[in-house]
Amino acid sequence: MSDEANPFESLQSQIDDAAAYLDIGDDVIERLKYPERILETNLTIERDDGDLERFKAFRSQFNGDRGPYKGGIRYHPQVSRDEVRALSGWMTYKTAIVDIPLGGGKGGIVIDPNDYSEAELERLTRAFAREIRPMIGEDQDVPAPDVNTGQREMNWIKDTYETLENTTEPGVITGKALDSGGSEGRVEATGRSTVLAAREAFDYLDKDLEGATVAVQGYGNAGWIAAKLIDEMGATVVAASDSSGGIYNADGFDPVAAKDHKNETGSVVGYAESEEEITNEDVLTLDVDLLIPAALENAIDADLAEDVTADVISEAANGPLTPEADEVLEEKDVFVIPDILANAGGVTVSYFEWVQNRQRFYWSEERVNEELETHIVDGFDALVESLEEHDIENPRTAAYVVAMQRVADAFAEAGSWP
Ligand code: NAD
Repeated sequence: MSDEANPFESLQSQIDDAAAYLDIGDDVIERLKYPERILETNLTIERDDGDLERFKAFRSQFNGDRGPYKGGIRYHPQVSRDEVRALSGWMTYKTAIVDIPLGGGKGGIVIDPNDYSEAELERLTRAFAREIRPMIGEDQDVPAPDVNTGQREMNWIKDTYETLENTTEPGVITGKALDSGGSEGRVEATGRSTVLAAREAFDYLDKDLEGATVAVQGYGNAGWIAAKLIDEMGATVVAASDSSGGIYNADGFDPVAAKDHKNETGSVVGYAESEEEITNEDVLTLDVDLLIPAALENAIDADLAEDVTADVISEAANGPLTPEADEVLEEKDVFVIPDILANAGGVTVSYFEWVQNRQRFYWSEERVNEELETHIVDGFDALVESLEEHDIENPRTAAYVVAMQRVADAFAEAGSWP
């Protein structure tokens, strides 16, 4: 992983690339490049041994022109102001490309949650919820899970908010457990959109997904579900990795059994069906038809991109390629389905969860998956239309052209205050 690429600079360069094709004034483009506001705060909680510890935390509200800010909360030692700013921008263009009426936001706490007990994480999560309470709400800003957070943390945030506000407002947060107002299909949604987008790309490129070989970098929520679903579509998962290393079997392996092994041992490494152990880097450069990066940003830099041999990349992770890597892959004719579309399933089903919470009427999993498929296929079609209409080489740029135009239109339609 490259330490050098600054994700916020990556976002801004992606916006600049797309701006070249848009008839939007520089003043509006400038607005599209920065968050509207960002909260930087310090949370102090009591450890189980009675000591106090301080944690830095952020919430960025990038753009609310199309609806309430929307985006996850990440717990990771690498969380920084610039990372949160970038992730909130990517959310803005993600909600726009799949055309759901939400804006973009993101939050994070600088912490390695593995070093803390559940009780400590609950105190920290509730402290964060108290801090962001004035800026969130179902019509203001609706957080969700991200790396190292899930239903448990979302339930704590919902409970803290509702207790302090003396109300029931499940739509204040998404990614909740079913009994707390969550949606069917939410846990699988990100992996599902990653493979739906890949299916559309294979179809567009006239390539057969049946029997195609697949490598998955990162075997967490997004990665392992993508592996399971692409296997169900007839492709063959030959490699996977997590932070401990990678596994490879040229004949393919059972993605569910590999996940069971990770659940039992903490890693995919050592999984019995694996022919050989390989490095994280090897997984990214294997000769496969489809590569799914599903770990963190900057996984592939320009040097590594030179060695990438996949034909199609579906970005389950946010920002897995540096802008320089993107250029190299464009020259090599690798079709990269950008994160803002490939992993948009998470936010799309979050949107469905929010709709269900507001209606107090819950959908079947079948309905959720059908509606998700419509948004992802429509998003992919809009990307292809933009690619062809503007004669753009890079699918990411084509997607940004669509998304930025939608945000700019909403801003223009709102008019300005005298
Ligand atoms: P997760 O914590 O469940 O999984 C992350 C996985 O990546 C883990 O298996 C970890 O071991 C692995 N990993 C970390 N560093 C690695 C490395 N250097 N090489 C290989 N593997 C490595 O997180 P997640 O929710 O699956 O999120 C993964 C990515 O998907 C993130 O970029 C996140 O922003 C993005 N994403 C997730 C969702 C969602 O709904 N979960 C939605 C949109 C985008």
